[in-house]
Amino acid sequence: MLERISELLPDVISWRHHLHENPELEFDVQNTAAFVAQRLREFGCDDVIEGLGRTGVVGIIKGRGTAGSRTVGLRADMDALPITEQTNLPYRSRVPGLMHACGHDGHSSMLLGAARYLAEVRDFSGTVILVFQPAEEGGAGGARAMIDDGLMKRFGIDEIYGMHNWPGIPVGSFAIRTGSIMAAFDSFTIEIEGKGGHAATPDKAVDTVVVLAAIVNALQTIVARNVDPRDAVVISACQIHAGEADNVIPQFGRLSGSVRTLTAAASKFCEGRMRMIAEATAHSYGARAMVTYRHTIPAMVNEAGCSGYFAEAAAQLVGEEHVDTNIAPQMGSEDFAEFLLERPGAFILIGNGDSESLHHPAYNFNDDVLPFGMSLWSEIVRNRLPG
Ligand SMILES: [Zn+2]
Ligand SMILES: [Zn+2]
Repeated sequence: MLERISELLPDVISWRHHLHENPELEFDVQNTAAFVAQRLREFGCDDVIEGLGRTGVVGIIKGRGTAGSRTVGLRADMDALPITEQTNLPYRSRVPGLMHACGHDGHSSMLLGAARYLAEVRDFSGTVILVFQPAEEGGAGGARAMIDDGLMKRFGIDEIYGMHNWPGIPVGSFAIRTGSIMAAFDSFTIEIEGKGGHAATPDKAVDTVVVLAAIVNALQTIVARNVDPRDAVVISACQIHAGEADNVIPQFGRLSGSVRTLTAAASKFCEGRMRMIAEATAHSYGARAMVTYRHTIPAMVNEAGCSGYFAEAAAQLVGEEHVDTNIAPQMGSEDFAEFLLERPGAFILIGNGDSESLHHPAYNFNDDVLPFGMSLWSEIVRNRLPG
């Protein structure tokens, strides 16, 4: 397998550079999706379906073996970010203001590389479903859109796997854990209505600015005093808007931010406390609070069995000493979590070496990672669909 994968590598690198040069945003990944679908057809996939979840692509590869008929999903994401690239790469972004700063160009290329290999050897029993997802970034809902379009049922997916490159983990190493591996992402907006007035006569007004300040402080007590100290929760008030003049007490104000939690229960708990604190604090000052709370991305929870299979497959490739099976949960979010609400599965981090961090304008996916990703995809198929 490793020999064949290294033969395929020059093509995979050229696809990666092509995708890097041509970043597209959210659901508007038409050219990327067409490129992916074209390659999958060239490889001789049994079927290629476009337009699932608006611009998602699905490829089907059936194994030659007769030992079983299980179906395993492998997922890559295709979208880039609204960031101006600051690299001097010969293949740097050609689209002003957009770049592949999260390595989804690498993820798509690795899965394409594995697809080419799997379509060629077909040394497994059952079916591999290749899932190329749009709109992963920014809570845009690409995973949910594909699920709502019937991804799981239509293709009979029994379990699903995902992979993300990770700066700071050495190339050739992997990290995973059973249970919550990435956080839920919630966002909130608190609108305050006080009573506007002259800044010289605060006694005749209800000062929205003071109410906002009190709420920001009170929100800190959710993590400090309400959440179990052993649970990781982050609440960040990131925007405050009120007032336009130095001699006017504003009538209206707005506060917004985000919440990260590692379980659905913690996310629900934070929503409840936030509503209570915002409404009661505003009320105590004679103002009104309206809270909008959005559960945008769920916590990503690796199923124990699948997490074990994925770790075993990785250890098979690089040796147990290069697979961290108990990495601390990351407080960032990834909408692969949506797939794990539907089916058992697991998400693994693949080392990107000593690169800039994800979403940094000088970040680049490391091409040395490609053969490890392609091999792991092939290995998990061999592990889960033995032929
Ligand atoms: Zn990202
Ligand atoms: Zn990403």
